[in-house]
Amino acid sequence: MLPQWKAQFGCFDLVVRTDRQPRSIVMVHDIAIGGDDVIVMAGPCAVESERQLLETAEAVAAAGARILRGGAYKPRSSPYAFQGLGVAGLKLLRKASQATGLRIVTEVLSEAEVDLVAEYADLIQVGARSMENYTLLESLGKCRRPILLKRGMVATLEEFLRSAQVIARAGNPHVILCERGIRTFETATRNTLDISAVAVLKLVSHLPVIVDPSHAAGIPCLITPLARAAVAAGADGLLVEVHPAPEQALSDGDQALAIPEFRSMMDDLQPYLEIQRVRRRGPQLLALGAD
Ligand code: PEP
Ligand code: MN
Repeated sequence: MLPQWKAQFGCFDLVVRTDRQPRSIVMVHDIAIGGDDVIVMAGPCAVESERQLLETAEAVAAAGARILRGGAYKPRSSPYAFQGLGVAGLKLLRKASQATGLRIVTEVLSEAEVDLVAEYADLIQVGARSMENYTLLESLGKCRRPILLKRGMVATLEEFLRSAQVIARAGNPHVILCERGIRTFETATRNTLDISAVAVLKLVSHLPVIVDPSHAAGIPCLITPLARAAVAAGADGLLVEVHPAPEQALSDGDQALAIPEFRSMMDDLQPYLEIQRVRRRGPQLLALGAD
């Protein structure tokens, strides 16, 4: 590790990678994050109805996603906006999981709901707005589910890794880091995807790193190019918002991919995913595959 990074990140001993340490694989049930395959997590921003969720779940599963996303508790910027279905949303996520075999990632907003969310989720999301909620992070340290920790929209990588360290130190080392775009002076996009964060985190931390191109871009036409860049930079997974009727979505409809757009994104990504698979498995398998 570069000396300046050692000085900056070295104190986060549970999440920083020493020179010979292997990378960590975080298991989401039977799915390895940080292994040979780039794992796609997809679904609506918010769970809205049984029909909306099941239609999306079936479509994303058929297109190759392994994990279904969907918020039951939504951290909205406006108090008048849809706040999520709560426990009814968690139950719909379970139903969609049973129908499709997809695993579930969903956000927890408060310490009071950690046990409830952990009952339904295979992977618990900490949103960008909660990245520095240390009471929440500490309670997730005691929880027996893996954690998807999103980078705060104005958080440095040092602050991001500090939050991961808080969860690990409280007893839960199963943390996946998620770059979701940061606030910059640019206004053409909702946030700026910090692609160098992926490369830096893969060098300084042993934790898996995934990218959410949806909240970074804020517009559907940028999601595929940003997803390609994320995979090429070494991301271990993607988190993408998909809705059967984006114009009717109760949250983040402006950035949701419609189902056919998601299928096109997956088709487009195939060669990039394949290159990563070969790089990760090593050249012997490339030779074997050539027979
Ligand atoms: C989300 O995933 O829908 C979400 C609210 O993301 P973020 O916390 O990155 O804004
Ligand atoms: Mn969203």
